[in-house]
Amino acid sequence: MRKKIVAGNWKMNLDYNEGLALFSEVINIVKDEATGSQQVVVCSPFIHLHSLVQLAKGYNNIAVGAQNAHQNESGAYTGETSAKQVKSTGAEYVILGHSERRQYFGETNELLAAKTDTALKNDLKPIFCIGETLQEREAGSHFGIIKSQLEEGVFHLDAAAFGKLVIAYEPVWAIGTGVTATSEQAQEIHAYIRKEIADKYSQQVADDTTILYGGSCNPKNAAELFAQADIDGGLIGGASLKSRDFADIVKAFN
Ligand code: PGA
Repeated sequence: MRKKIVAGNWKMNLDYNEGLALFSEVINIVKDEATGSQQVVVCSPFIHLHSLVQLAKGYNNIAVGAQNAHQNESGAYTGETSAKQVKSTGAEYVILGHSERRQYFGETNELLAAKTDTALKNDLKPIFCIGETLQEREAGSHFGIIKSQLEEGVFHLDAAAFGKLVIAYEPVWAIGTGVTATSEQAQEIHAYIRKEIADKYSQQVADDTTILYGGSCNPKNAAELFAQADIDGGLIGGASLKSRDFADIVKAFN
């Protein structure tokens, strides 16, 4: 059975002490909530990773991830962080292809394919983000955009490698805007993504892939979104910065 995941994406928020304090609160509230095949992941800035991993020790269903990692193994790339460095903190996951990285840092599908390879080589589990802009949705090209993001970003992988990924559908128009995709809109795309995976690999691989929804997910709308057949959890930005809200989203599975 595929994993259900609620992942927080802190983005560039919280100083070192604030991050540790928030994570401790989150652990206290969610430690008894995430059970069985459910997992809580917190994707923090690099500065928090090692300390969060220490705090999460002993909680099997709470994991830590980064929000980016470089495509090269090491070298003269001032200011960058490698997948190996992320892995050495004890982090398990890494977000790749977030729309903010695509938009503000020019990350292309081709670059993201290389980042995915390097992350997997270093035994990190990528949370690979895809999603259309408002303009693309209004033009009716959202299915094509999703398809090309999958084809160019991750479909070069063999089935075993693909099986290590988590996919996150995040319509750009819903990120940080307070406008959530309706559960029907989200489910429609999630079902489409699963079908593309089935066509490329197999129904089994598709059924085993965790597909998260992201974009203004909050304690009010989480339960309805997570109740959809092909939505296996969420990637949470703003609401992951408040321990109560984040915990309530984790509880929305129940
Ligand atoms: P949001 O962000 O929940 O603040 O919309 C989601 C994301 O960017 O992952």
